[in-house]
Parts: sequence; structure tokens; C-alpha cells
Amino acid sequence: MNVKTMPPLFVVPQPKLRRLIDAGGLADSTMCWTCSSCDSECPVEIATNRLRPQRIVRFANLGLIDELIALPEIWYCLTCRRCNRVCPNLVKPETLIRYARAEAVRRKVYDMLAAEKMLLHGIHYPFPALAHVEKTATGYREVPVAWNPTI
Ligand code: SF4
Ligand code: SF4
Repeated sequence: MNVKTMPPLFVVPQPKLRRLIDAGGLADSTMCWTCSSCDSECPVEIATNRLRPQRIVRFANLGLIDELIALPEIWYCLTCRRCNRVCPNLVKPETLIRYARAEAVRRKVYDMLAAEKMLLHGIHYPFPALAHVEKTATGYREVPVAWNPTI
């Protein structure tokens, strides 16, 4: 589709999710002033034109967590941290990317555990240290399995 004929992209910022990403990502994303220095320094962007750290920081600042973890470019990053070093405002795009990857993997694993009703082992659960995972409207819930001594 030609850029001129593309429909406008409407984005509804999610302040609550923005605070959540900010707290979880520890990347100081809200300090970004969109200077593009990180884009200019990123070796993947220079070589392929496919990874703009600034774009990832913008998604975080709009609170678009679902869209952020679905971005293919979070998996292109080499974790070289050049973007972190070059940022004049001490924003850490590489740290944010690692957070997005971890969140994407966590959701995939929890989705699988919930869909296949698999048991999760954790020493923080009461004996026998097993739990089911249930999907809720806002995320996931771990439900410990009750001990049944009947043989
Ligand atoms: S850490 Fe990733 S996003 Fe940052 S400069 Fe390196 S490859 Fe690019
Ligand atoms: S270098 Fe820092 S301030 Fe500039 S666009 Fe990247 S994250 Fe934002």
C-alpha cells in the first residue's frame, strides 16, 4: 500500500500501561526527547534499516505494551548497548528491549500453561508445590493445587 493511500493510524495512549512499562522496564523511557541519536548509532539500523530504538521507546511511552511485544524488531537487537551509551538523556533502549522480550516470552509460556492446563512447579506454593495457571481479564492467576493424601 502506498504511504499516501494508507489510512491514518489512530493511537490511544495508555497512561496506566505506560507507568507499568516504566516500572518494569527500568529504562527511563519517559526521559526520551526523540532526538534519534540511538537510531543513528544502532548497528542493526545502520546495516538493515529495520531497528529503530527510538520507535521502541515511543511505543513504551504511549503504553502500547501489546503492540510493543509484538514488534519483530525487538528480536533483531544485538544487545550491544550502543543506544544506551549514546542517549543524551540516559534512556536505556536496550534495557527496554530486554524487558519487552522477557514479557513476550512470559506471556507465551503462561498462555501455553493455561491452554493446556499444565502444572507449574514452584517452591513458593504450598505442598505439593504445584499450581495451575488461569487467564484473567487483566493477566494471569496462579492457582495452587490442593494436597490430596488419598491413595
Ligand atoms: S542494543 Fe540493540 S537497539 Fe541498541 S544499538 Fe545495539 S543493536 Fe541497536
Ligand atoms: S537517544 Fe535517547 S532521547 Fe534520543 S531518541 Fe534515543 S532514547 Fe530518545
